[in-house]
Amino acid sequence: MQRKRILVTGGAGFLGSHLCEKLLDQGNDVICVDNLFTGSKDNIRHLMDNNYFEFIRHDVTQPLYVEVDQIYNLACPASPIHYQHDPIATGKTSIMGALNTLGLAKRCNARILQASTSEVYGDPEVHPQPETYRGCVNPIGPRSCYDEGKRMAETLFFDYNRQHGVDIKVIRIFNTYGPRMSAHDGRVVSNFIVQALNNEDITIYGDGKQTRSFCYVDDLIDGMIKMMNSRDGFTGPVNIGNPGEFTMLELAELVIKLAGSDSKIVYKPLPQDDPMQRRPVIDLAKKELDWEPTISLEEGLARTIEYFRILLGIY
Ligand code: NAD
Ligand code: UDP
Ligand code: UDP
Repeated sequence: MQRKRILVTGGAGFLGSHLCEKLLDQGNDVICVDNLFTGSKDNIRHLMDNNYFEFIRHDVTQPLYVEVDQIYNLACPASPIHYQHDPIATGKTSIMGALNTLGLAKRCNARILQASTSEVYGDPEVHPQPETYRGCVNPIGPRSCYDEGKRMAETLFFDYNRQHGVDIKVIRIFNTYGPRMSAHDGRVVSNFIVQALNNEDITIYGDGKQTRSFCYVDDLIDGMIKMMNSRDGFTGPVNIGNPGEFTMLELAELVIKLAGSDSKIVYKPLPQDDPMQRRPVIDLAKKELDWEPTISLEEGLARTIEYFRILLGIY
């Protein structure tokens, strides 16, 4: 295989760090760009000695000039508590980050992949969600900075493709979990695991009947790389996620069981605009990418619990 020069924005985050690692394993030259807002040098410390890995502390809202063959654009906080902390910065990151990386792709003639999200479907009225569903998103709510930012990024990707012929790939990622999520990330899987390991109350928001579909990180990264290397002209958007669908109550009970925890479940208010259901249709990914997830929720949770045990020193 020929060594490619690959830029990963958001490369010090949860998904980005796994992606950098895999791309290096495959023999590539990787530039990781991150402003360390939610990411951490700890996530990439094990890559720092590799001569084919470079870390640049940089904010993607600013122009960036490097020479690369491929770009994975992942920079953007993904957890609701983080993306709502400074919603204007979140909007800028999605939109200006897309613009700058697309400008870079245009100049370098690089292929560029956008990490979009199931949030483009909002609180969906069509279930499960195929790529053809246009979504039900509140443009003025607390989640809009993220949802509409990601929707605008998709628009920019398709406009750069139509107007300038930029070689784009768009994936819509459904809830993904695994090692290297931050313990303070605020997303449901890491919250429940950290609470269970500490024998603290497990916080369910709302009645716990809302559903999500959880994909283990290794499966997700595999799908992302397959999409980047898919046939010319296949732009997506393509859903990448695990079609297994669980209520938050089922998730809480499974985490308690697998962690061998004494935690009790407590109920907290449901955040505004929290989607009630989410499950991907993955027929397109199966057909175009020959991809489907292989790791069950139980197996993935067990691996993630083991990671947090070591991280937190709880045995
Ligand atoms: P994460 O928060 O761990 O990673 C995001 C990374 O982007 C962090 O390292 C952060 O420091 C960096 N970043 C944020 N703003 C930046 C900026 N302005 N300039 C440079 N770097 C910046 O989250 P993640 O789960 O790894 O998500 C990665 C990408 O995948 C995000 O774009 C997210 O929207 C998308 N995604 C993730 C999920 C999921 O379930 N994990 C689902 C859908 C979409
Ligand atoms: N850009 C960048 N790196 C590059 C090329 C462009 O960061 O290597 C930025 C550039 O600053 C601009 C954006 O990408 O703001 C869009 O670039 P494009 O060439 O499409 O637009 P223009 O510069 O014509 O506005
Ligand atoms: N959630 C919960 N307890 C928590 C954190 C989240 O019940 O401690 C719920 C949240 O309200 C949502 C679901 O779990 O219904 C998934 O939340 P997350 O923030 O992980 O992702 P997203 O809402 O973006 O899918």
